[in-house]
Amino acid sequence: MSFKELGLKDSLLKAIEKKGYTTPTPIQEKAVPRVLEGRDILASAQTGTGKTAGFTLPMLQILSKAPVRKHRPIRALILTPTRELAAQVQDDVRTYSEFEDIRSTVIFGGVKQHAQVKVLQKGVDILVATPGRLLDLINQGFISLAKVEILVLDEADRMLDMGFLRDIKKVISMMPQKRQNLLFSATFSREIKSLATSLLRNPVSVEATPENTTAELVKQRVIRVDQKRKTELIIKIIWEGNWHQVLVFTRTKHGANRLAQKMEKAKITAAAIHGNKSQSARTKALAAFKKGDVSVLVATDIAARGLDIPLLPHVINFELPNVPEDYVHRIGRTGRAGASGEALSLVSADEHDYVRGIEKLLGMKLDSEIIEGFEPTKGPVEGGKKRMQNRSRNSNQRPHSNKQKNRRNRNYRGRPNSNRNSDKRN
Ligand code: AMP
Repeated sequence: MSFKELGLKDSLLKAIEKKGYTTPTPIQEKAVPRVLEGRDILASAQTGTGKTAGFTLPMLQILSKAPVRKHRPIRALILTPTRELAAQVQDDVRTYSEFEDIRSTVIFGGVKQHAQVKVLQKGVDILVATPGRLLDLINQGFISLAKVEILVLDEADRMLDMGFLRDIKKVISMMPQKRQNLLFSATFSREIKSLATSLLRNPVSVEATPENTTAELVKQRVIRVDQKRKTELIIKIIWEGNWHQVLVFTRTKHGANRLAQKMEKAKITAAAIHGNKSQSARTKALAAFKKGDVSVLVATDIAARGLDIPLLPHVINFELPNVPEDYVHRIGRTGRAGASGEALSLVSADEHDYVRGIEKLLGMKLDSEIIEGFEPTKGPVEGGKKRMQNRSRNSNQRPHSNKQKNRRNRNYRGRPNSNRNSDKRN
C-alpha cells in the first residue's frame, strides 16, 4: 500500500517523499485512514513503529481543511511523558507540515518559560507538551484549550507510570467535549484501559505489535553473570564486538553516571542521560550519540523514553527494570521500523524474579546463557531462596533445539574464537 492510497493529500505526500519514506509502516496503514474518518483511536504501538507519522499526517490533513483563523487557537494538543519525546514529536510535526499553513510549537519543563510563551502568544495550531509545563502555563493564563479539536496522548502508559493521571484528567476537563481522541500506548494495564474507556468514544483499535509483546525483529538474549562483574563483561562485549550505537539501561541515575565513567576509562566513548541532567546536557548527549561521536548512551528508563534513534542495533539491560512493562519499552529501542536488532540483558542472581515477571508479561521463556570466564558464582535467588544446587541437574534435563544451541555458541561479531558462550545454563 502507498501513502497516496491512505488518502493523504499531495502536499503531505511531498513532505513524506522529502523525508524519504516509500511505504507506510503497519501502524500508519491502519491508523491514517481511520483518523482521517474522524474516529477515536486506541493504538497499541511503541516508539519505532512509525506511530508519530501515523497520527501527525492525518491530523495535519484534518486541520488544514479549515481556513486559518486570525488568532490561531490551539486546535490539536499532543501530550507526551518526557521532554525528549515532546521535542522529537515536534520535529516530526514540523517536518510533515513543511508545505502546510500550520504552526506548531513544543513546551516542556526544565527550561525557562519565556521563549515558549513568546511563541504561544503568536498563535499555534498544534501544541506538543508535557503535562506539567502545560498546566503551569494554563494556570498562568498563557494557554487556552477551549478550541481543541484533536487530542493525542502519546505513550500514555508512561505518562501514567510517571504519575500524570491527575494532570491529564485536569487538562481534558479544559477541552471541548466534542473532539477527536487518539491514545497511543505500548502496554495496556488496567489503568490505561480505564483511561481509554473514559476518554475514547467508540474507538477503533489498531495494533502495531501484539499487546505487551516485544518487537518481532528483536533478538533477545539473557546472560547470567554476577552483579559485581557486569561492568567488566559489558565493556568486554562492546569492546570486542566493536559495537557502536549501544543504548545501555541502568536502574539508577548514579548507576548510569558510574557506568559511563567506567566505559570512558576503558576507552569506549560514552555519555549518561537521566533526570538529574539538565535539558541541554541531555540534548547534547543524544545529539552526540546520534552523530556517532559517542558509542554508548547509558540511560535510565525515564530519560530514554521516546528517544528516536533510527536503526539502533544494540540495547543492553545492564540491570533489568523492576517493572516488566519497562522491558518492553527498552527493547523497543532496537529492531525499529523494519530493521533487526539485538536486546541483551545482563542478569544477576537477585534479578531472577524480574526475569520471571518479564516472561509472564511476554508469555514466553527467555533462555539464558553464560559467558565463559564470567560464570555466575550464585544461583538465581527466588524469594530469598538460592537454587544453585539444581543448576547442573537442570542443565542436563533440558533438551535444547539446534537453533538454541547455535545461538548460544555463536561468536560475538568481529571477534576471534575466544569467549564463546558456554553451553551451561540454569
Ligand atoms: P516513531 O515510532 O514515530 O518514533 O518512528 C520511528 C522511526 O521510524 C522514526 O525515525 C521515523 O522517522 C521512522 N519512520 C516513520 N515512518 C516511516 C516510514 N513509513 N518508513 C520509514 N521510516 C519511517
